[in-house]
Amino acid sequence: MIFTSSVMKMNIINAVSYLSFEKFDNIPYIKHGFSTRMGGVSTGEFRSMNMSFGRGDSDENVTENYKRLCEAMGIGYKTLVASAQDHHTFVRRVSPEQHGIGIYRPKDMQSVDGLITNDPKTALVTYFADCTPLLFVDTKNKAVGAAHAGWRGTVGKIGARVVERMGEEFSTDPSDLLVTVGPAIGKCCYEVDDPVVEQFAALELNSSKMIFPKGGGKYMLDLLEANRQILMSAGVPEENITLSDVCTQCNSDLIWSHRATGGRRGGMCAILSIM
Ligand SMILES: [Zn+2]
Repeated sequence: MIFTSSVMKMNIINAVSYLSFEKFDNIPYIKHGFSTRMGGVSTGEFRSMNMSFGRGDSDENVTENYKRLCEAMGIGYKTLVASAQDHHTFVRRVSPEQHGIGIYRPKDMQSVDGLITNDPKTALVTYFADCTPLLFVDTKNKAVGAAHAGWRGTVGKIGARVVERMGEEFSTDPSDLLVTVGPAIGKCCYEVDDPVVEQFAALELNSSKMIFPKGGGKYMLDLLEANRQILMSAGVPEENITLSDVCTQCNSDLIWSHRATGGRRGGMCAILSIM
């Protein structure tokens, strides 16, 4: 497997590999990363680094995978707090009271597709397998956010919801936000049909840069570009937004892809923490 990216690098520590954006690696008080399929203990269709509970893998294996990833990233396993994603746009503020939820404590809420915090040492965990990861850092007020944006969440403008909530909770000014849009299915592979495209076309965005007709009612959709435009319309400066150049389906030997595996798969996670 050959990994190439102009914005991310692959970190390999104790056989655990994860991807990180150089833009966030340069912020001294931030730790972040995206898991790959390498370095875990899961077997069969979950081999080997599966970060998703509840897909058929054993909880013991997923727990061990989290411990290994945290060790490699230098993040405290006990500080993890996970989302409860279902393709909606609710954004939850979390603190040490929520440590462990969705990881080593049961979920206490449904429908949490975004997480924000300004606590040091509260690590936000979100899950993906083709959907678009959004990670936010307020470089002035030292606050962070993470969101899961599949096509439904993107149409619902969850990126803008995170910006708004960070403004309400932490007085975040959008111009102080750095945002990375992580590994997701690219416009090279993400084919959709009319009902999906109609919802994107109805957004007040530049459709010509994100919807590419193929004929026969089929289109290639650029979810990363859609999120970039939504973030810009929420006030995030263009130069503060970095898009992944790694497609999950093209790189499905390295990163979990729902479409490439036909749904028989584990999951990737993004972790983001203030240290
Ligand atoms: Zn692709």
